[in-house]
Amino acid sequence: MVKVVTFFLIAILVLGMFGKLRMPKLRKPRAGAKKCPDCGAYLIGKAPCPCTKTRG
Ligand SMILES: [Zn+2]
Repeated sequence: MVKVVTFFLIAILVLGMFGKLRMPKLRKPRAGAKKCPDCGAYLIGKAPCPCTKTRG
C-alpha cells in the first residue's frame, strides 16, 4: 500500500511539473494574426504596420 501511495504522489508531482511547463506553451497567438514581413510585429485587421510608413 505504501508503494502505491508514493507512486501516486510522484505521478501527481510529475503531472504538476508538466502542467507548469505546458502552461506558457498554450498561450499561442490568435489564429489569423498576421505578422509584418519586415519587422515581425503582429498586425491587427488590415491596418498596415507602422514600419511601412517610415520605409515608404
Ligand atoms: Zn512592420
